[in-house]
Amino acid sequence: MTLNLIFMNRIRKHFNWLSVQEIEIVLKDSEKIKIFAKELSVKHEKEEKQKKIKLDSTCPNCKATAIVNKIARVEGSGSVSGSFGFGGGYIGGSSSIDTSEVNHCNSCGNQWKKYAEKWDSKNDVLADWINFLWFDFQDGGPWLSTYDKLKEFHAESIWNIRNEVYGDCLMSARENLTLSMLRTKFKSVYDKK
Ligand SMILES: [Zn+2]
Repeated sequence: MTLNLIFMNRIRKHFNWLSVQEIEIVLKDSEKIKIFAKELSVKHEKEEKQKKIKLDSTCPNCKATAIVNKIARVEGSGSVSGSFGFGGGYIGGSSSIDTSEVNHCNSCGNQWKKYAEKWDSKNDVLADWINFLWFDFQDGGPWLSTYDKLKEFHAESIWNIRNEVYGDCLMSARENLTLSMLRTKFKSVYDKK
């Protein structure tokens, strides 16, 4: 490259003014990153569904599988009247609801709260990656899981993802993670040989 081109390239890099070819690279990268996040999200969702089926269909007390749905009366304090087994899932102690659907074991009469599935959407997964990268920049590493997943991609592509899920990221990551920081760890589309 001539000196003039090198200079122009630096200016473009500074302001992140992408050329058409560079935009294509960023879009291709972003698509791959999103597919990757989607796969993880779908996998997690499947695991949670299986977990729910298992925990809602086997009595944690006597292991019987003759389970029916019941509406349990919940006192104002959040405690459930009658016997109540801890079959998994979070049991809130400050609930103001006075009825809730529970699993009821026909063999021993045990009742336990239905398992509440929790999984991350594709965008939650992406926002987590951005947050984790920010944590690593803050602590100086360990640069393991998230970095390893994304190291083949360009800094500008990760920045593009960050802009897409900006609203789902932690405030500290939103405010402090910069494209320049990403470029210290990831290759840049502006750095041509
Ligand atoms: Zn039982």
